[in-house]
Order: sequence, then structure tokens, then C-alpha cells
Amino acid sequence: MNSHLSIPAGGIFVLKGGESMTLPGECVNDTQTVCMECGTALGIQVLCSAAGYYIGFFCPHCGPYSRESGYYANREEAEQALNNGFNGR
Ligand SMILES: [Zn+2]
Repeated sequence: MNSHLSIPAGGIFVLKGGESMTLPGECVNDTQTVCMECGTALGIQVLCSAAGYYIGFFCPHCGPYSRESGYYANREEAEQALNNGFNGR
């Protein structure tokens, strides 16, 4: 007899950096921001994640800081969007 207890493998997923939040007092569609963790000035840029390319901020100390766009299939599309919609406003 096998009295094996079937313990459900409850997958615990920790979503890291997936929050899409609007910081009070800060303009989201800006081309510059300041990292709240370490105070480093960040410039908006094309970034790459497992889900694709996107436009956002990346802190060299804390890692990906925020995502300001949707995902793009390739870097060229993201760069075009950055030049057209996120620059010079
Ligand atoms: Zn930082």
C-alpha cells in the first residue's frame, strides 16, 4: 500500500517589477526620471526583456525600473516609437 500524500504543488510566483504604477507627482510620459531606490537619474531608452523590446527606464544599480510602452517585436520598432512618441515633447 502506498500512502503517498498528494501535496498540491502550489506554484508561488513572485512577480518582480511587473507593477504598472503612476507615481504621484511624476509625469509618466517623461523622457527622464529619477530612481526612487538609489536616486540615479535615468534616461528613457529601448530595453529588452524576455517578453520583447520596450521603452522604459533602466537603473544600472537596481535593474529594470519602469516600462512606458507596450512590447515590440524588434528593436527597430521600439526605437522608432521612441523617436516618434517619446522624444521632443
Ligand atoms: Zn536605482
